[in-house]
Amino acid sequence: MNTPIRTDCVVVGGGPAGLMLGLLLARQGVDVTVVEKHADFLRDFRGDTIHPSTQELLIELGLLDDLLRRPHSDMARVQVSWHGTTVTLADFSHLPTQRKVMTFMPQWDFLDMIADAAMRFPNFHLLRSTRGEKVLRDAGDRIIGIAVVSPDGTPVEISAHLVVDASGRDSDVRADAGLEPIRVAAAMDVLWFRLPKQPGRSIRSYRRGRE
Ligand SMILES: Cc1cc2nc3c(=O)[nH]c(=O)nc-3n(C[C@H](O)[C@H](O)[C@H](O)COP(=O)(O)OP(=O)(O)OC[C@H]3O[C@@H](n4cnc5c(N)ncnc54)[C@H](O)[C@@H]3O)c2cc1C
Repeated sequence: MNTPIRTDCVVVGGGPAGLMLGLLLARQGVDVTVVEKHADFLRDFRGDTIHPSTQELLIELGLLDDLLRRPHSDMARVQVSWHGTTVTLADFSHLPTQRKVMTFMPQWDFLDMIADAAMRFPNFHLLRSTRGEKVLRDAGDRIIGIAVVSPDGTPVEISAHLVVDASGRDSDVRADAGLEPIRVAAAMDVLWFRLPKQPGRSIRSYRRGRE
């Protein structure tokens, strides 16, 4: 893979943003190459809720059946019961969308689905285990592509009319391009962790300390 690659648009990062952009461009006939540094999308803690508005977009793209063919669960309401009282925290049933449910599916299954849909287009190329290293510039300092490292460690140059960095919040490529992100995150922290739970054990039995 060490021969230079030419494409219309190269996208660095095969997360939700990069893969969805790749799919949308491929549908429009653009030759698009997405480079993803991992071999697959199987990473923990990437979230698993697919919101009704996202599902509306999938309906417009004709991808809802592809989504629902994969293992998932739907939730019309988020309710919490505590000492005999049930509180409704969220109710999706009134939304002006066709699917009025929150769908739960690991993000890697969702990304597999988007990648599969994109790969139906011959002008979509997904290079896995390929890391974007730095932007390529011409003599006038214009960005004209991206230098990547292929799965066997060989450096490869991908030249493109458009380079999109979708490699996440700590992007080396963005830093190399000299771009400063505008921070708009909500002022909150989320602590996310996993608790062991054996099949058949109720939450109540854990609470009583019956290990
Ligand atoms: C704990 C947690 C829970 C969440 N839960 C939900 C949820 O339930 N529902 C929801 O909708 N959202 C959820 N989110 C948010 C969601 O995960 C992010 O909004 C989304 O992943 C951002 O997508 P992205 O494509 O911009 O970036 P990312 O998902 O970060 O994807 C970037 C991709 O680029 C790749 N990459 C990085 N550097 C390079 C490089 N140099 N070369 C090539 N590839 C590279 C990475 O491997 C990755 O695949 C959650 C986020 C977190 C942290």
